[in-house]
Amino acid sequence: MKQLKASKGQIFAFEKLEDWGHLTSKGRPLEYTRPVHMKGDAHYRDGIVYVRVQITTEIEVECSRCLKLISQSVQLAESLEFQEEPETGLQGVLLDEFSYEYGAEELELMAYFEKLIAASLEIKPLCNADCRGLCPTCGQNLNQGSCTCTQKRSKDPRLGKLKELLP
Ligand SMILES: [Zn+2]
Ligand SMILES: [Zn+2]
Repeated sequence: MKQLKASKGQIFAFEKLEDWGHLTSKGRPLEYTRPVHMKGDAHYRDGIVYVRVQITTEIEVECSRCLKLISQSVQLAESLEFQEEPETGLQGVLLDEFSYEYGAEELELMAYFEKLIAASLEIKPLCNADCRGLCPTCGQNLNQGSCTCTQKRSKDPRLGKLKELLP
């Protein structure tokens, strides 16, 4: 930060490979299956810290249909701008998500990078585009074979009746 401020406009490149263990997304821990690779640069101008970053990693998520654990690769490129708080601002209370305390000597970027990763995850990941999911009745993983309830259901004569009644 000091270095950034001391040399206005100068671009500082960074590259890091870190093991983060797990990411907490929607209150649940997700394991990283690969270290987080961050590469980018930062520069400072008129109170604003500009950061460009490319993040590559891999995270273990659950298939939204069958709950099987799958690795989801994360590849994102973002530009962030961090604004300095006014001198008179409340100490320790940030006005904006992308702001830093007046006179701050460090900018903790990792927390922002984690948020970017969490936001990039698919809402409904699938192990396979045609994953058959779990049987809602017995919980059997239908990718591994059908369960007896589906057979029972299709043989159920009442269902046939119901079909007749439907237009
Ligand atoms: Zn699945
Ligand atoms: Zn079943």
